[in-house]
Amino acid sequence: MMKGSRNLAQSLSLTKAKSKVTKAALVGWLLTQTVLMSAPAMAQARQTLNYTGLLKKIDAGEVERVEIDEAQSIARVRLQGQNKNEPPIEVQLLERNPELIDRLRKNKVSFDSQPTADNSVVVGLVANLLLFMLLIAGLLLILRRSSNSPGGPGQAMNFGKSRARFQMEAKTGVMFDDVAGIEEAKEELQEVVAFLKKPERFTAVGARIPKGALLVGSPGTGKTLLAKAIAGEAGVPFFSISGSEFVEMFVGVGASRVRDLFKKAKENAPCIVFIDEIDAVGRQRGAGIGGGNDEREQTLNQLLTEMDGFEGNAGIIVIAATNRPDVLDSALLRPGRFDRQITVDLPDRKGRLKILEVHARNKKLSDEVDLEKIARQTPGFSGAELANLLNEAAILTARRRKDAVTMLEIDDAIDRVSIGLAKNPLLDSTRKRMTAYHEIGHALLTTLLDNADPLNKVTIIPRAGGIEGFSQTVPNEETIDSGLYTRAWMLDRIKVILGGRAVEAEVFGEDAIDAGAASDIGKVTQIARQMVTMFGMSDLGPVALESSGGEVFLGRNMMPQSEYSEELASKIDQKVREIAKFCYAEARRLLRENRPLVDRLVDVLLEQETIEGDQFRTIVQEYRDSLSQTASVTS
Ligand code: ADP
Ligand code: ZN
Repeated sequence: MMKGSRNLAQSLSLTKAKSKVTKAALVGWLLTQTVLMSAPAMAQARQTLNYTGLLKKIDAGEVERVEIDEAQSIARVRLQGQNKNEPPIEVQLLERNPELIDRLRKNKVSFDSQPTADNSVVVGLVANLLLFMLLIAGLLLILRRSSNSPGGPGQAMNFGKSRARFQMEAKTGVMFDDVAGIEEAKEELQEVVAFLKKPERFTAVGARIPKGALLVGSPGTGKTLLAKAIAGEAGVPFFSISGSEFVEMFVGVGASRVRDLFKKAKENAPCIVFIDEIDAVGRQRGAGIGGGNDEREQTLNQLLTEMDGFEGNAGIIVIAATNRPDVLDSALLRPGRFDRQITVDLPDRKGRLKILEVHARNKKLSDEVDLEKIARQTPGFSGAELANLLNEAAILTARRRKDAVTMLEIDDAIDRVSIGLAKNPLLDSTRKRMTAYHEIGHALLTTLLDNADPLNKVTIIPRAGGIEGFSQTVPNEETIDSGLYTRAWMLDRIKVILGGRAVEAEVFGEDAIDAGAASDIGKVTQIARQMVTMFGMSDLGPVALESSGGEVFLGRNMMPQSEYSEELASKIDQKVREIAKFCYAEARRLLRENRPLVDRLVDVLLEQETIEGDQFRTIVQEYRDSLSQTASVTS
């Protein structure tokens, strides 16, 4: 299972080593250069006097002083009457020069023997050594390229182009069984496996096979694992690259990598191409100060070209992963590219139990270990963190020389892992309760109000970006298509949005409400304002006081074009406040009247962490039934 990542690590460290060798070689070359360049200068100085000449001059008493440099076997000679500013004459010495010293003594010439600071001999040696190392490294590099790179032997000499950093695994060995706790995502991807295995079945009836799927989820939720499992189940090769590796310093390198990747993929189709961290390359183009990043844009354009270039039936399915789908360039999400988005959530309690079961398979656990209990203790843990948790426990067990993992090691490992994470506000139970009430406030109102959209799910599993939970509705497609939002729908929508704040005030008191609902309040103001100024839904009359500068309810910033007086502006503010106040009061009333139901739902949410729409409606219905029963008994 971990094979892929080890390969990756290996090749990464290799790439690092490579660049180090190149640098060292460069320095070596420069050193050789200096050595070569200084040689002619030395030769010139030596020409004026040779060894025998020097001996003669000593005998003749023409020499004032001699400095012997043993390291370089040079004597620096100063002649009698020589100008002080002139450099001494350099004389090349022999290996041993016994008579030189004798004659100097005999003629009473002052002399001095010292090693020089100039150690160019050593430098020359080092340079040679480095040059030699470079040769060896280069050879190894070429050998490695041609033997086991995904590029194959053909690319051995293809420098610049062959720096492909993608990995290929012929068989991932990962199966859907190894992926747990993210059943929805698994189910959606099951189809992709079928495409890869039996494309004829789909093409025969004219179905267009999807080219790409985007896996959206926080780190460690198993996106890579899932992509590998698809390849494993379908028995096709798995190509992978990380978006951050595309983006290089040099313009054009990323694009050529993309070309290489897809060329290889086509040769090996059917196959899976996995692009991790696609947001690194796929950010909205033209964003950023100074016109954006040329290299990234070129790479992205190449990626788009490649994805358009092969037919859906070519058998390549591109799976990309990100936890920031919001920053992606919209071109990536167009039909025929990553048109399928699959959310990979952090696992809930049941999911965590299943993931723990998967990773407990190859570990020795003592009988008392209760995976159920561990799952309960680890809200907010991702799949990777759970895997890490069991592994830490196993390491502790080995260190303590025990035969099997006990609950003691598990508890220690949880501490270790969660302190390492320094997060999980949801382990704090008052905060968790507060979040649960807030979300139930939204969810219950959307279920109770006639004109609100039905609930899809409510969850208190934290997300990236500091989101501690959410309640999600299924928007009515007809309304979206027609754009016919009624006044009743808008009012109910405001009540639902205020439900979070309302329930907090009901349950914990006005003083306890916190700033967590700020974005809710912002949304309410926006809708209420539009009702008054654009849709003529207040008693200010059916006049459009502002022209729409953006799409309604999509959260885009509108440029309010004020076409009214200040007096009217304050009237608008007043109307907006009235709408909000009315809806808030309604929300509080409904929640107060259904307080036992609110408490019951919060209990279920705290227990399960996620309630799907259907289950939620069942609980609400049960409550209503029980009410009408007691009502009929008393009456
Ligand atoms: P992501 O790509 O989402 O960041 P990975 O797929 O790399 O996460 O997950 C890292 C490791 O964590 C996996 O190799 C696996 O051991 C473990 N893991 C994560 N999610 C799951 C899961 N749903 N089921 C089983 N193991 C998981
Ligand atoms: Zn809210």
